Amino acid sequence: MIDKTKMEDRVIPYKMLLETIATTCELTERILPEQEIPSIKIGTKCFESVLSEAIEKAREGLPIVGYSFAFPPEYLYCFDCVPVCIEAVSYFLAALLPEGVEKYYDIINNWGHPYHTCSSQKGVMAMTLDDLFKFDAIICPTGPCDNSAASYPFFKYKDIPLILSDIPFLHEEKSYEYYGKQLKLTLYELGKVIDQEPDFNRMKKHIEIENQVQKIQLEIFELKKAIPCPVENLFNAFSAGATILMAGRPENYTFYTEMLEIIKKRYKRGEHSGGEEKIRSIWPYMLIFFDFAICEWLEREIGMSILFDIFNYNLTEPINTKSGLDTLFKGMAKRTMDFPMMKQSTQFFDPFIDDCVKFAKDFSADCFIYTSHIGCKQFGSVPQILREALKDEVGIPMLIIELDVGDQRMTSIKMIKNKIKMFANTLL
Ligand code: SF4
Repeated sequence: MIDKTKMEDRVIPYKMLLETIATTCELTERILPEQEIPSIKIGTKCFESVLSEAIEKAREGLPIVGYSFAFPPEYLYCFDCVPVCIEAVSYFLAALLPEGVEKYYDIINNWGHPYHTCSSQKGVMAMTLDDLFKFDAIICPTGPCDNSAASYPFFKYKDIPLILSDIPFLHEEKSYEYYGKQLKLTLYELGKVIDQEPDFNRMKKHIEIENQVQKIQLEIFELKKAIPCPVENLFNAFSAGATILMAGRPENYTFYTEMLEIIKKRYKRGEHSGGEEKIRSIWPYMLIFFDFAICEWLEREIGMSILFDIFNYNLTEPINTKSGLDTLFKGMAKRTMDFPMMKQSTQFFDPFIDDCVKFAKDFSADCFIYTSHIGCKQFGSVPQILREALKDEVGIPMLIIELDVGDQRMTSIKMIKNKIKMFANTLL
């Protein structure tokens, strides 16, 4: 007979995450007035449901499959498994645990992993080193960056099979065909490791849910053009989490559908979620994950809207699920290669600059705020080029903040707030 407690203990950080999310959900239900920050109320409820089911499946003894955020989780539903997003665990716990996850960064740094690598993976690497996670396999593309390509092999040290799908550099037809074949191969390889045959019909159903979600995301994205922006800043953080943790799940559809209803109502009333909108900002890379509260602070203290971050503007086309496996996998390849960070970091930087200039104009942005994250070395020189392009072509400024988005010790939230306050004063 299966020892359910032993099985459940293969995903201890997921249990920690469920506990913090459930507490946040209960607190916000009790404390926040009805209309306040709905993304946190709806989002936490949906995450709670997904995590509870994952833990239940772990209790039943299903294999634990870790995946990189750059590998869309809906593809893993061709198996009976417990998908665990490596980066979502690190950053959600960084945001929700009062003491953060810095102690885990220290564990992995002390083990010998370079301190300047991406904290999005370091948290779970340390948790695995400490046997808090017991993965049966890990699947990951060879992207989006050198950093993740160099960090993921750590898991082999713990004898965890690491399955890699090879990402091509160019974003064009032959690359999508190549990567589609890679995705299929890697799913079969994963099946061998966990002793299951992939069920692509079941996977299609989850991809179809995600196709519906993408339509809603696009509608929300368009509504952000309105002045004032009817979407609260914190929505971006929950939407980022939803994209990497809940994709392909009915809960993801619920999150975006309920949010769209609220956003439409605000739009019709010409309302901004946090009072008066004074500054419209675009964050072309990441939000600050160790302190989500800054989203609300920006609205309340400065009147600054975050129109979107990198996880909220990479909207892809629906995947054709009706025309055979080759078409299906090509569509899956395109979606994966156009995924946040994959799109920007696995090709030349020109399309990123072009997109940003277009967004600035289309969304009437007053400024950009660029979080230059210590891990993203492949993007080290891009902020300055983007700053010049925005100044020359749109006439708006960009603030660059050097930091680790998951580790509050590199640049403290106090310093970040001071920088933004000073920058905002130059705009008002
Ligand atoms: S692109 Fe940057 S943030 Fe994303 S995984 Fe790589 S180093 Fe981390």
